[in-house]
Amino acid sequence: MAEATDAGDPESEDSQELKTLRALTGEELKQVFKRSKHFRPCNICDAADWSVLGSSGAPSAIKLEAFEGEGAFGLAYALTCTNCGHIRLVNAKAVLANLRKDQRDEQ
Ligand SMILES: [Zn+2]
Repeated sequence: MAEATDAGDPESEDSQELKTLRALTGEELKQVFKRSKHFRPCNICDAADWSVLGSSGAPSAIKLEAFEGEGAFGLAYALTCTNCGHIRLVNAKAVLANLRKDQRDEQ
C-alpha cells in the first residue's frame, strides 16, 4: 500500500488488502486497537476516550498521498482524543497484520 498501487487489478495483493480494509467493522477495528494498545491514555491530556474517523458503524481509513512517486499512497486510521483533539495515526497495514496474527492465534 505504501508503494504505487494497482487497485484496479482485482487479483493484486494490494487490492485484496483494500477489500479487507473496506470490509472491517467498527467493532473489529476497536478490538485491534485495544490489543495493539492504541487506546492508551492520550499523551497530551491523559484522557482515555478515542473516536475513529468515520461513522461508528463504518470507520474509514484516511489516504496519505506521497509527495514523490506517482499515485503512491498509504492508509491510516485516525484516532482522535475526544477531550483535546490530539490525533493518533495507525497504519492500516499494521492493522491488517494484527488481524492476521489474531486469526492465526485463534486457529
Ligand atoms: Zn487528549
